[in-house]
Amino acid sequence: MKVVVLGAGVIGVSTAWYLLEQGHEVTVVERQADASLETSFGNGAQISVSFCEPWASAGAPFKVAKWLLRDDSPLLFRPRLDPAQWRWGLSFLGQCTTAAFERNVEQLVRLGRYSHESLKELVADTGIQYERLERGILHFFSSQADFDAGAAGAEVMRSHGVDRRVLNRDEVLKVEPALKSFGASIFGGTFTPSDESGDCRVFTQELAKRCEARGATFLYEHDVQGLELNGQQVASVRVSSQQTGQQRSLKADAFVTAMASYTPALLKPLGEFLNIYPAKGYSATLRLKKPEQASVVSLLDDTRKVAISRLGDHIRIAGTAELVGLDTRLDTPTSRVRCEALVKRYEELFPGVADLSEPNFWTGLRPSTPTNIPYIGRSKKASNLWINAGHGTLGWTHGAGSGRALAELMSGVRPALQGFGFYGDALPSAPVRRMATV
Ligand SMILES: Cc1cc2nc3c(=O)[nH]c(=O)nc-3n(C[C@H](O)[C@H](O)[C@H](O)COP(=O)(O)OP(=O)(O)OC[C@H]3O[C@@H](n4cnc5c(N)ncnc54)[C@H](O)[C@@H]3O)c2cc1C
Repeated sequence: MKVVVLGAGVIGVSTAWYLLEQGHEVTVVERQADASLETSFGNGAQISVSFCEPWASAGAPFKVAKWLLRDDSPLLFRPRLDPAQWRWGLSFLGQCTTAAFERNVEQLVRLGRYSHESLKELVADTGIQYERLERGILHFFSSQADFDAGAAGAEVMRSHGVDRRVLNRDEVLKVEPALKSFGASIFGGTFTPSDESGDCRVFTQELAKRCEARGATFLYEHDVQGLELNGQQVASVRVSSQQTGQQRSLKADAFVTAMASYTPALLKPLGEFLNIYPAKGYSATLRLKKPEQASVVSLLDDTRKVAISRLGDHIRIAGTAELVGLDTRLDTPTSRVRCEALVKRYEELFPGVADLSEPNFWTGLRPSTPTNIPYIGRSKKASNLWINAGHGTLGWTHGAGSGRALAELMSGVRPALQGFGFYGDALPSAPVRRMATV
């Protein structure tokens, strides 16, 4: 088939790669000048299969209410006259039950495992280097009450087959000795040795180059303007070049939309409503002055809800969420407070280790669904239109698996990702081929 993929973040590029593996002819349309320059650019770098709890849980409404309107809170909700925000919020509240939480975790663990296996195979096949560290993820707590809650959470995750260990303070410091100067404030931690970290941007850009080498065409600096229908099928996608202003319609046999938070607006004219809302987050990337004193295990600091990942001679601190629509400004008073809080926290944890003079602040919009489960599957309105969007907090973790599963579905192959709720009528009724079970 001729396939046009819309969006060159980690999801679109992974989809393109696996479509090429299935023998299709691929064109990718992207408005930026390279792959991975939006949400996949500066994220927390964690491949967190075992830390995949959705935000929606029985305790979430209480926590969110406590944080409401505090400029430096981990999750900031600014009510707006925006029906999409309210629809998302109400649906999120509907997911805040123990039963929904368990159901969603189950799906996220399945997708995470499949994706991790896919990523490992892809990296082994391509040899892509992206500051990968297979050192696990360590979540540390600075109060007894938080540690007790973390230990209870670990128990829940273990019941889903995840290896999450509970560690006392000494064990935490053994896993990551670089935390020693903060050690007296640590009450304990939980550790998932099979998780890892690495630079999502580097990985995605390298994979895009390999896609091009295999014959894919990348139309960078092209805006997707709309889909053109012919009955129950998409006939073409209208794109315009930023360089020349020229508009044209790209025809194909099948189309994939991987435009993250911008996907719902593209599909709305078709009468297809996806509940994806942007959750703005921030990161700082600091050069290390004393690399030998910096952490190598990827960290989660429970107090500030930030991820800290080592990327070569730099350290990335990422986190916080703001439900404020499609706002990517870094220069608002709230943004400044939130960015500065990341650097301040790093300095509290690792005094003098990083150069704070060039913090490389960045913001990105997590394409969030109320369940945290992405839409992977076939459009309900057009049979040759496929969706890979809504990966929220876990798009890097779920990138390879989401791309592979969708490419397989489009090729009439039943993915080895069993028990996952694909969107729309996606699974082939009679499996043409079956991939090895993961
Ligand atoms: C602060 C922060 C920390 C995070 N930490 C982690 C982490 O540690 N681990 C993890 O797994 N995930 C993490 N995430 C989530 C992860 O980064 C996202 O889920 C993932 O990047 C989404 O990938 P995507 O390809 O769907 O989106 P994107 O990377 O945004 O790709 C979508 C692409 O579509 C293009 N596009 C959109 N509209 C148009 C248009 N009209 N025309 C042309 N092109 C268009 C965009 O330019 C963009 O390149 C984090 C996110 C944030 C914000």
